[in-house]
Amino acid sequence: MLRFYNTASREKEDFVPLESGRVRMYSCGPTVHDYAHIGNFRAFLLADLIKRYLRFSGFEVVHVMNITDIDDKILRRINAAGQGLGEFTEQYAEVFFQDLRLLNIIPADEYPRATAHIPEMVDLISRLMERGLAYERDGSVYYSIAGFPAYGQFARLDPAGMKDGISVDRDEYGKEDVRDFALWKAWVESDGQVGWEAPFGKGRPGWHLECSCMSMKYLGESFDIHTGGVDLIFPHHQNEIAQSEGATGKPFVRYWVHNEFVNINAEKMSKSQGNFYRLKDIGKSAEDIRAYRYLVVTSHHRTVLNFTLETLESSKAALRRLTQLRDRLWQASGDGEAGEWQDMADATLAEFRMHMDDDLNTPRAIAAVFGLVNQAEKALNQGRMSSGGAGTVLGFLEKVDQVLGVFYEVASAEPARPAGLTPELERLLQERQRARLAKEWGRSDELRDQLAAAGVVVKDTRDGYEWTWA
Ligand code: AMP
Ligand code: ZN
Repeated sequence: MLRFYNTASREKEDFVPLESGRVRMYSCGPTVHDYAHIGNFRAFLLADLIKRYLRFSGFEVVHVMNITDIDDKILRRINAAGQGLGEFTEQYAEVFFQDLRLLNIIPADEYPRATAHIPEMVDLISRLMERGLAYERDGSVYYSIAGFPAYGQFARLDPAGMKDGISVDRDEYGKEDVRDFALWKAWVESDGQVGWEAPFGKGRPGWHLECSCMSMKYLGESFDIHTGGVDLIFPHHQNEIAQSEGATGKPFVRYWVHNEFVNINAEKMSKSQGNFYRLKDIGKSAEDIRAYRYLVVTSHHRTVLNFTLETLESSKAALRRLTQLRDRLWQASGDGEAGEWQDMADATLAEFRMHMDDDLNTPRAIAAVFGLVNQAEKALNQGRMSSGGAGTVLGFLEKVDQVLGVFYEVASAEPARPAGLTPELERLLQERQRARLAKEWGRSDELRDQLAAAGVVVKDTRDGYEWTWA
């Protein structure tokens, strides 16, 4: 049974979605005031790993990730540069989507932007005001923590010391309690052109509000999984809970899954410290980019990942070993038994699942995979790997890769690839070859037809296969 460590209970819990077979998941997405760094992508890769493993385990997944396209930093930067809001944020959003593709991250079903949901946010604020959980001061609206007794439980705050360490913005002196946070920020001169009309006055929404509002709009008032980095536990996620549960009176999220940081030299990688890498800084080649994905997904999401170029090199070496094994398996023609490989592949896959079920323990799961990799390499070296056995091992690696997603062609920056194969066609070709090696003739014919329909003609040869455009 799949279990997640749930930040809400600080325990591993059995995973049971609200709707049988269908999982609704929300992830805090990027703030597009700058380019995302590789630490941010750890958060997005965790969401991807969860989604892939849920699908692998037979669930349907509906996934939503917000794009924060309005906040203090964005306002400061556009007003300094004299740029329009959309023009400024979309340049970073575009690069973000490009990087997601480079990392083979399955797109979310929706990427709602905060600025496209102002009316819904205004409604949510009105609901909170009606319930006595929000009050207006000088055109700003604040959440009244005193009205939500459970405040602080999720983040494990000590009620006695809760006032310490909470900063008060200079323009928030009107708050009744220093812990209260802004739902709506009144327009001020330095906001320039940016501001929306609302019943409480012109202004803009607070950051915490957008995630409550957009998650509930697309996933319902109660949903299954919410992800983000550990830095968001407080105040962001605590505030989301207060807003959503305060407005609906229903439990908001069932499982909170958080990723630890990516550090550099034992310090958190962050934009404000200036100690960050972007994907393009470490990804000089397609292999480097795939190695970063490999490094993150094979590290446990609840342990800090200390990034160095050496760790990236060791991921590259591990990935190269897997790729070389696949290449050798395509060519295998030894004379060993095929049946024993089926048994070994089944047992290893069961072990892989067992570790993944245990709060996505990818380090153990990948160690199990390498157990079979060792055996297969040995058999190949000794000429004991038959084509049937090779097909079985290839099928196993492909299954594992549905979860890890590390065998892929890194998308080129140019979307159009007229001369070559698309990654999808490439995958169909390889899957057909695997099916053929495993003597699954029905499946290989079916794939040949699919390829033909897309204009790719495959011809089998003594050493493998060749393809041409029809
Ligand atoms: P932001 O764009 O700052 O809103 O952050 C997007 C996501 O990246 C959030 O889930 C953060 O918790 C996460 N995050 C930020 N810095 C790091 C880091 N150094 N390592 C891992 N995750 C991070
Ligand atoms: Zn959020």
